Amino acid sequence: MKLRVKELTFSYENKMILDHVDFAVRGGEFVSLLGPSGSGKSTILKLLTGVLPCEKGTVMVDGAPVKGLSPHFAYMPQNDLLFPWKTILDNVCLYGRIHGSLKAMRREARASFPEFGLAGYEDCYPSQLSGGMRQRAAFLRTALCKADILLLDEPFGALDVITRGEMQDWLLGIHRKMNRTVVLVTHDMDEAVYLSDRILILNQSPARITDEIEIKERARDREWLYGQGDLRRKIYSLIMAGAGEVRESGRNVGAQ
Ligand code: ADP
Ligand code: MG
Repeated sequence: MKLRVKELTFSYENKMILDHVDFAVRGGEFVSLLGPSGSGKSTILKLLTGVLPCEKGTVMVDGAPVKGLSPHFAYMPQNDLLFPWKTILDNVCLYGRIHGSLKAMRREARASFPEFGLAGYEDCYPSQLSGGMRQRAAFLRTALCKADILLLDEPFGALDVITRGEMQDWLLGIHRKMNRTVVLVTHDMDEAVYLSDRILILNQSPARITDEIEIKERARDREWLYGQGDLRRKIYSLIMAGAGEVRESGRNVGAQ
């Protein structure tokens, strides 16, 4: 297993957010964490990257325990902003010094611009780009980190529905070429179905992984996605069952 997360438990002050979260991801696999807003998805990624200190539980990469900040993870936070006063090239090379020489990184970054749909925008500033292009630049910055696992927190959440669709098509294509392990956090069921090898369903806070759905289809396109009515129905009922379970046990925020 590339990544193994065992019994991750976390509270903010005295409010329990994660309750023994367990999952594993194989090398090269694309796994989505799907759950309602506020269920603790971003918290999971912050614990993996060491942005938040891990209280209880273990994170293992390639069988070895990981603590604190680790070079294994490239993290794209939920609101990843580009610095408005830096050019796109400078923005995407921001982590260059962490991962080797800045010169080599700039060369590699320039070579990646066409693939990320940014050719010709190297010396532009973020305000000169569309929303989708800015997201691709933020994604390029993450991808340029020499980490083997990409952690993406709702990377397309702020985009309009058409641009989001285009970005999902693009990510599907580029993931096949990149051959990297991806953990994507999303509350968008269609996004999870379209992009994932496996979907892990989180219930409401305190979050646990309640279900897991494997999606074997390799030849995906939008037509395939539109035909996935049964799968969507199943996921929806699993999410609702998870929400109901929490309500019954009185552990939801409103009952506290
Ligand atoms: P998601 O990403 O699934 O929307 P988060 O992981 O951001 O959820 O948040 C999970 C829960 O933790 C939410 O109820 C949120 O209000 C709470 N929370 C997030 N950040 C903090 C914080 N810094 N202090 C206290 N509570 C927080
Ligand atoms: Mg979040």
